[in-house]
Amino acid sequence: MENGNLFIISAPSGTGKTTILKKIIAEMANVAFSVSHTTRAPRPGEQEGVDYFFIDKDMFADMRQQDLFLEWAEVHGNLYGTSSRAVADATEQGLDLILDIDVQGARQVRKKLGAKGVFIFIAPPSLEELASRLAGRSTETEAVIATRLQNAKQEMKSITQYDYIIVNDTIAEAVEILKSVIIAERSRKRRDLSGAPLKLVF
Ligand code: ADP
Ligand code: 5GP
Repeated sequence: MENGNLFIISAPSGTGKTTILKKIIAEMANVAFSVSHTTRAPRPGEQEGVDYFFIDKDMFADMRQQDLFLEWAEVHGNLYGTSSRAVADATEQGLDLILDIDVQGARQVRKKLGAKGVFIFIAPPSLEELASRLAGRSTETEAVIATRLQNAKQEMKSITQYDYIIVNDTIAEAVEILKSVIIAERSRKRRDLSGAPLKLVF
């Protein structure tokens, strides 16, 4: 079976990436979300093994030592990493896998996998709108929001490393564009709209 595609998606915190990805996973067949490991505390409503694997710093260090991460990074003061094994398992099953990772992690994946990955950046319409979305989410303190806004300015500089840029102005439009990108990439590999191999009999 043809391996699934790997979509590496980055966005400044608060852009709306989680909102968009939840819709993509719910509405598209054969797309899976790569569940990262993090040392960050769960937010209200976040589920172990669904949103993240929540682990402590010692366990994270152990996993790094055993070279279990395809990539890892410190983001906004917490550690985040993607398991190499989980990525290989999902794509070998033919699933299109979405990695929601920051710009440092995306750079590492680009180095390791090059053109095997499709790199997508989701941008907020403006810094003011980003500030308002972060404040509206009410999951971070003012100090944490200030750090994330500062980091956003830095992250926007990495936009040129990505293959596709999606501006999240309205959720519906951003979801449509991301679906189109996924379908276009499937078409490169002769797969149908749902990701299954094309059966053309002449
Ligand atoms: P991220 O995962 O990028 O940090 P979230 O998906 O948690 O961001 O979204 C941050 C906040 O912005 C949430 O409260 C979400 O409902 C809101 N939001 C997301 N997309 C939009 C949009 N296009 N317009 C207005 N608000 C949005
Ligand atoms: P949050 O704490 O808001 O869920 O995520 C903060 C940032 O960490 C986001 O930019 C998100 O993309 C990034 N992130 C989440 N998982 C990973 C990962 O496994 N690796 C890297 N490098 N970044 C991650």
